[in-house]
Amino acid sequence: MGLMGGWPDPALSSAIRTAEHDQADGTAVLLTDIAQLVTCDGPDDSPASALGIIEDAALIHQHGEIVWLGAASQAPPADHAISLGRRTITPGFVDSHTHLIFAGERSGEFAARMAGVPYDGGGIASTVAATRGADDGELSALLHTRLAQMWAQGTTTVEIKSGYGLDVETERRLVELASTVTHEVTYLGGHVVPAEFRDNRSEYVDLVAGEMLRACAPRARWIDVFCEPASPHAFDADEARTILLAGRSAGLLPRVHGNQLAHGPGVQLAVELGAASVDHCTYLSSADVDALVDSAETTVATLLPGVEFSTRSPYPDARGLLDAGVSIALATDCNPGTCYSNSMPFVIALAVREMRMTPAEALFAATRGAARALRRDNIGRIAVGLNAELAVLDAPSYVHLAYRPGVPIATTLMALAKD
Ligand SMILES: [Zn+2]
Repeated sequence: MGLMGGWPDPALSSAIRTAEHDQADGTAVLLTDIAQLVTCDGPDDSPASALGIIEDAALIHQHGEIVWLGAASQAPPADHAISLGRRTITPGFVDSHTHLIFAGERSGEFAARMAGVPYDGGGIASTVAATRGADDGELSALLHTRLAQMWAQGTTTVEIKSGYGLDVETERRLVELASTVTHEVTYLGGHVVPAEFRDNRSEYVDLVAGEMLRACAPRARWIDVFCEPASPHAFDADEARTILLAGRSAGLLPRVHGNQLAHGPGVQLAVELGAASVDHCTYLSSADVDALVDSAETTVATLLPGVEFSTRSPYPDARGLLDAGVSIALATDCNPGTCYSNSMPFVIALAVREMRMTPAEALFAATRGAARALRRDNIGRIAVGLNAELAVLDAPSYVHLAYRPGVPIATTLMALAKD
């Protein structure tokens, strides 16, 4: 193992592929010689124990379901034994906030911003035009390319929002396309007010909360809204509440984009409505932090530091939120305007370097924390009975995720099987 060098290791990929092929017959596959098995299933959430690390570990899965894990020296026999060559296994990353379906790109806007032009949420119109003009085949090809990049970098669960259609038919198409690749589909007709409704905002809110919602709800699990009165393109608290309540009545669960560009009502609205997550949380008052602490069991603060990196903006106070007891998730917010990166390892490195999270806190927030932001208990951790949705790191420790930024050490068991 490892003699051929290179990563992903061809010998490891070949062994996994052979075993996967046999799994059709229900054979058991032992992954052994794991330097660190990071379960993110420790006895409690304290920094010392939350990661639930087993050193010198092994794991057995059958039909893709984990049936045993523990010390390698105690592993029972299995049909296939695959050495991980002293590498690390963590839960697959959970990217709980993306805008993955869009056409076009905005590198010109990025270059302008880097030259000093401030972002106000308006460049989205060009993405809306490109997305409306793309057919399902083009959008699906773009989506699958981005997903393959994510699987190859350790992500195993992705949430996908609509929000670049902003008309009934295109929003319906986006939600439908997203539903072909994930259960975590979010209807985001309330992303921004499109140009054609600029002088008639209430009519657009009625559309988002009415006909557009009815077209999208059957294939969505979540409803989201960009509640940011500081942007003339986004929605104020009353508009956002109208949209989210209509979504809730249609059976969707609320989440909120809020407090990204300035102080505002997003966090309070999210807590008021019992949203699973409020995302960005860059500008928070002490009352916002208190509200997030009080509702830590219900509402997760999802931080998206790739956005601050890509817009050269101040980062959220992750350290302060963690120390106060807020429940935190990390995600990419992959989108063509403010963060065209779908790399969770990059987000983990940013969280550690720029937001003063520890490597342990960042990994937990990118797995178990993000699973909570999706109200999921069956992903983001490694335990008997769960699916073997695993990230594999070409490193002896998970700390390398932040320690070696930009180095492609992370992939998934699934991607290795496909190499
Ligand atoms: Zn977003």
